[in-house]
Amino acid sequence: MKRRVLESTASLKETMVGYYLELGSAAAAKSAPVAWCTSTGPVEILRALGYKVHFPENHSSMLGAARTANDYMTRAHARGYSQDICSYLTADIGAFLAGETPFSAFGLEEVPKPDVLVFNTNQCRDVRDWYEFYGRTWDVPVIGIESMHMIENVTDIQVDAIASQMEDLVPPLEEIAGTRLTSDNFSEIIALSKECVDLWKSCMEMAAHKPSPVTFFDSTIHMGPVVTMRGIPAANEYYRLFLSELQKRVDDGVAAVEGERFRLYWEGMPIWGKLRELSELFAALSTTVVASTYCNSWIFDALDAADPFRSMARASLELFIVRSDTPKESYIERMVREFSVDGIVFHDSRTCPSNSNCRYGMPERLREQLDIPVITIEGDQIDLRCYSSEQTKTSLEGFIEQLEDRGRPGEGVGD
Ligand code: SF4
Repeated sequence: MKRRVLESTASLKETMVGYYLELGSAAAAKSAPVAWCTSTGPVEILRALGYKVHFPENHSSMLGAARTANDYMTRAHARGYSQDICSYLTADIGAFLAGETPFSAFGLEEVPKPDVLVFNTNQCRDVRDWYEFYGRTWDVPVIGIESMHMIENVTDIQVDAIASQMEDLVPPLEEIAGTRLTSDNFSEIIALSKECVDLWKSCMEMAAHKPSPVTFFDSTIHMGPVVTMRGIPAANEYYRLFLSELQKRVDDGVAAVEGERFRLYWEGMPIWGKLRELSELFAALSTTVVASTYCNSWIFDALDAADPFRSMARASLELFIVRSDTPKESYIERMVREFSVDGIVFHDSRTCPSNSNCRYGMPERLREQLDIPVITIEGDQIDLRCYSSEQTKTSLEGFIEQLEDRGRPGEGVGD
């Protein structure tokens, strides 16, 4: 069975190249301050202050997709960064130590040097350690937000605490940028960012249609703008185009995977160096991975231009990765029903415990609660030493046979 390539991919490339070129030229000409920021924010404060923003996680995913990450990680290990910590961190630092970057494909000689590095530990502690390496290397300030984790219900007290930390970031960021944060600028950026994530959400919701017009593997590529360009109008323009292509596919009954029989949910990190291989494997099994925790992690429903700090704080705390298992399981249950999912694939990512939700019994609980087949595959976001193509293929083929044996292909759960 065939995978169909989306036509908007060409525009996606143009949009992303435009972003990298603007970032690179601002850094080279020193025409704007440069910040590095964690992928889930707080980018809106930075953009409202005129910063050009680089996202190291995006850089690491590119190293993974290019399958060069393993060439670099050993350099970071030799500096004392363990093989067991985040491979994004070790690959990124290793590439820096090697003086190489995939940004060279866009004419950038190096990753743009920051004037400040801004983290939010809502996802993990690794991001702070990662940024502190560069802070020490270049004697550049590293500031950020220390988040709560394992949150059952997000409370006003928690939101106030994070909002207050976000407000505390403003004076040093203003001083570095040499400008003041105005409420008009800030609200305008939040409004653009909210529009971007809403468009992205609409794109992701298209996969609820049968057959799905898009797969998880497509979405991991098309999520580039929502990760790196929130608050930039070009991202929103791109998602309007992407959404219209998906809508047209739905209207015309065009499937992303020809002859779709089964629909799966992907829980955990993508395996960046194996996207194509996995996409082809699932297509050959007439199976569409229709939804994922990962791609939905850039949907920030709480953002509100009328209440910038508190809404950003709430959005950062409502994220799946920050929550305890009970709300996580409720979320997956809702996704399984809304997207008519037949089975769940958990990816146990060796160096990303924060995004590996299979280690404390969740797959078994969901299997029981939802009466749904569940499988866990071993791998890593970019360290391919942790992944076996043969073993994964055998496991997934067996899993699809299990779905066939249930005798209700494509019906999903509760549909
Ligand atoms: S969430 Fe996982 S992949 Fe992302 S920076 Fe943290 S450890 Fe690395």
